[in-house]
Amino acid sequence: MIQFQGVSKVYPNGVVALNEIDLSIEKGEFVFMVGPSGAGKTTFIKLVIRRELPNQGQIYIGRKNLARMKEREIPRFRRNIGVIFQDYKLLPNKTVFENVSFALEVIEASRREIMRQVPAVLELVGLKDKANVFPQELSGGEQQRVSLARSIVNRPLLLLADEPTGNLDPDTSWGIMDLLMEINKRGTTIVMATHNKSIVDRMRRRVIAMENGKITRDEQKGVYGLEG
Ligand code: ADP
Ligand code: ADP
Repeated sequence: MIQFQGVSKVYPNGVVALNEIDLSIEKGEFVFMVGPSGAGKTTFIKLVIRRELPNQGQIYIGRKNLARMKEREIPRFRRNIGVIFQDYKLLPNKTVFENVSFALEVIEASRREIMRQVPAVLELVGLKDKANVFPQELSGGEQQRVSLARSIVNRPLLLLADEPTGNLDPDTSWGIMDLLMEINKRGTTIVMATHNKSIVDRMRRRVIAMENGKITRDEQKGVYGLEG
């Protein structure tokens, strides 16, 4: 699903955010990326969705070599990848329903498809009763569930989560993790960057640890690490 071969990313200011990364993530995996702030986790995610290009090395997502992808192919490519962030990034002037349906409207889904998929995905995340409220009327955990619903409504093969529980209390965080596990069980590959030691230690999934742009550890059924 994701392959990095000798990938380096140097920002224009000279910061080496990723330093010759080799990495392979298979379809259906659930992977945690851990490491201190500045380790390169967000840069990794930006490269996967082609928000940034590497200075060196090759990136394959599915069968696609990102360096060979044409500009006009990028929107369609990104539609197959769901992304969620620590700060939800919901549209404040749209209702819960509209935030989710927007993701289908941009791919020109039919009204019939929207009326079928949006309620189904809101049911999955437990927000069927909140379809008509606005984001600021929701708790943080609920807002993150809307963000999650929006990211999966068109059934992406890959879901990238950048600190999705960063603003949530432990119980609410586990609610999000239960949903991510369910989505993973249904076949979506998940990569989650996180500082949440208790979640990583309890899940016992693959853990890729990064530091200064390098992979320092890559373990199946791994733990967060000693520090942290
Ligand atoms: P993490 O997500 O692990 O905190 P990042 O990928 O955000 O790490 O950052 C890796 C390094 O790259 C850090 O030193 C950060 O300051 C730097 N960096 C990130 N984005 C930019 C940018 N747009 N321009 C310059 N430097 C950046
Ligand atoms: P249905 O088959 O009627 O769409 P499901 O119970 O299979 O109902 O799914 C409910 C909703 O959750 C779907 O509309 C879909 O948007 C979303 N969904 C379910 N599984 C996944 C998945 N693995 N990846 C992305 N979205 C999913």
